[in-house]
Amino acid sequence: MNNTKQPKIGTQCVWAGEESAFWKRSTQTPVVHSVSFGYNDIEHWQKVGRGETDGHIYGRNTNPTVAVFEDKVRQLENATAATSFASGMAAISNTFFSLLAPGDRIVSIKDSYGGTNKLFIEFLPRFQIEVTLCDTTDHAAIETAITSGCDMLYLETPTNPTLKVVDIQKLAQVAHKQGALVVADNTFATPILQNPLALGADLVLHSATKYLGGHADALGGVVCGSQELIDKIYHFREITGAVLDPMSAYLLLRGMKTLDLRIQRQSASALQIARYLENHPHVTDVFYPGLKRHPQHTIAKRQMKAFGGMISFMIRGDFESVRAFLPQLKYAHRAANLGAVETIAGPPATTSHVECSDEERAAMGIPDSLIRYSVGIEDADDLIADIEQALVYTFGT
Ligand SMILES: *Cc1c(COP(=O)(O)O)cnc(C)c1O
Repeated sequence: MNNTKQPKIGTQCVWAGEESAFWKRSTQTPVVHSVSFGYNDIEHWQKVGRGETDGHIYGRNTNPTVAVFEDKVRQLENATAATSFASGMAAISNTFFSLLAPGDRIVSIKDSYGGTNKLFIEFLPRFQIEVTLCDTTDHAAIETAITSGCDMLYLETPTNPTLKVVDIQKLAQVAHKQGALVVADNTFATPILQNPLALGADLVLHSATKYLGGHADALGGVVCGSQELIDKIYHFREITGAVLDPMSAYLLLRGMKTLDLRIQRQSASALQIARYLENHPHVTDVFYPGLKRHPQHTIAKRQMKAFGGMISFMIRGDFESVRAFLPQLKYAHRAANLGAVETIAGPPATTSHVECSDEERAAMGIPDSLIRYSVGIEDADDLIADIEQALVYTFGT
């Protein structure tokens, strides 16, 4: 941006990364479906190869459409550098494997995303990387684990699917005293509501598949941070190859233009729905960081601008009630993803923690009859009426 004044985030969602003159003056970022980029001037080609001048050589390294996506997220997270991936899990695993070595120790929480948890319990230990998973809301236990030796602190907040909140700033300070890197998964909050880098994290990452894209039509992942760290992660990715493809980058870019609008709407609706559920006789528990009864509400208020579009709740009875209730919802896809314009509902066993066994989910304290509800951009009154009729169907009144 040429303006000296930093634009607000809603403006950045639309313009960031997309200000340059594109091919034949197109106003929209073109999808460059080309694996390679040719040069008649060999000297120029070599300069691009050495990184001395801007340009692209081969799609596993860089691509113009993908570069615009990376730059937009970088600006929204107010970071120096960013690199992208084929999925959120590729972003997370490449971050681990590029920055950790045998003998290192990673400290994290029990409630991380199911796929991340699999990396912790199945893959990282195979490479002699020690993983300590702490009770997610026990900040004292996390601090003790950090001070007894830690190379990377990995946080996710709010968590999926139980919406627990972790104090990034407080734990980042402890980790930095120990010389550890701090990585935060910001998928649920998005840069609209929470900026982990400003709270002290060294790297922030996203499953762009969710809110950034917002339309459930493209997979993607992204990591932002200092040039030095991103260079290392980028280098690992350019060799191992989990690149974001240009068509997905285009879809994610188009989705991100409305990110601020969507998140404002979804956060406002989610708060309204959570308050409705909180007082409902058939609802036994509601997890939403925006509710005063949420155990980490104070932390959430401090580190988030609003509380996001994800809710989880439990209804009376056991899994049989869930089996009766879910199919009755008219305005919800019963599906595994989240963060889309449509409302999505499902139990953790088939959504966030589909990769985990029943025992593993139980060990993480995730009840089988929990319903994860990703609020879409529909009218909140219609969503509440929809939940109400499904509850009436399930319980008879
Ligand atoms: C979905 C998700 C991921 C994984 O992202 P993919 O794009 O599905 O690989 C990681 N973290 C969180 C919090 C998620 O919700």
